[in-house]
Amino acid sequence: MKYIGAHVSAAGGVENAPLNAKKIGATAFALFTKNQRQWKAKPLTDASIARFKENCRQGGYTPDRILPHDSYLINLGHPEQEGLAKSRTAFIDEFNRCEQLGLKYLNFHPGSHLKKISEEACLARIAESINKALARTSGVTAVIENTAGQGTNMGHRFEHLAAIIAGVEDQSRVGVCLDTCHTFSAGYDLATPDGYEKTLARFDEVVGFSFLKGLHLNDGKKIMGSRVDRHESLGKGTLGLKPFRMIMNDPRFDGIPMILETPNEDLWAEEIRMLMEMVR
Ligand SMILES: [Zn+2]
Ligand SMILES: [Zn+2]
Repeated sequence: MKYIGAHVSAAGGVENAPLNAKKIGATAFALFTKNQRQWKAKPLTDASIARFKENCRQGGYTPDRILPHDSYLINLGHPEQEGLAKSRTAFIDEFNRCEQLGLKYLNFHPGSHLKKISEEACLARIAESINKALARTSGVTAVIENTAGQGTNMGHRFEHLAAIIAGVEDQSRVGVCLDTCHTFSAGYDLATPDGYEKTLARFDEVVGFSFLKGLHLNDGKKIMGSRVDRHESLGKGTLGLKPFRMIMNDPRFDGIPMILETPNEDLWAEEIRMLMEMVR
């Protein structure tokens, strides 16, 4: 069974996210549990938590179909103590919010070395940041997203994801999310049947499908290997529709939230319908 949705708005309160997901015919969704451009947020109220849970129940959104995303300000591999400490505090707060909402996953970008520490040191810091958050919370799995490798962002090689996982003490609470646009921009082919199979075989070898907890479904504006993170609506970019047709008929992606982060939200309902129709 394929669960498909989009990163929907939680404006006016997290409880609105499942309602917004329902409106576009989604069977999964992603959300920010706080304003993603601010460090601090007001705690979730009991009323908001209760309404979120009730709206999820009514919409059929069990925790395994919801993939919350953390703030873009957080850098878990920050080279400097102050930035690292600030990021780790905010990351634990994100974990706590997921815990309060009864959610199972927290999706995040690994971090950046900012040219001040080595890649290895940055990956070790990211793993340590995850360990600290896992030690202070329970029931929520840390879901590392692969990146396009823009600037000094880590996570664009499958080996980076594997190295972070290797540094996590509780392996039962760490996983990964693959973003189709990021994978392609990072230099892994997904657009041809042969490239698709080779890329996924490589992913299985280096990371392992058992760690795959989610998928981001995005076409891209840039060519393969560009290392530039620019999403495009499905079928309108450099990936084209072919990879999405292969994904929709690939049992390795059953039972995980598959989330659109495409730029035109007016197309989400149509994109979800199109994806469902691709299932043979
Ligand atoms: Zn993504
Ligand atoms: Zn992206």
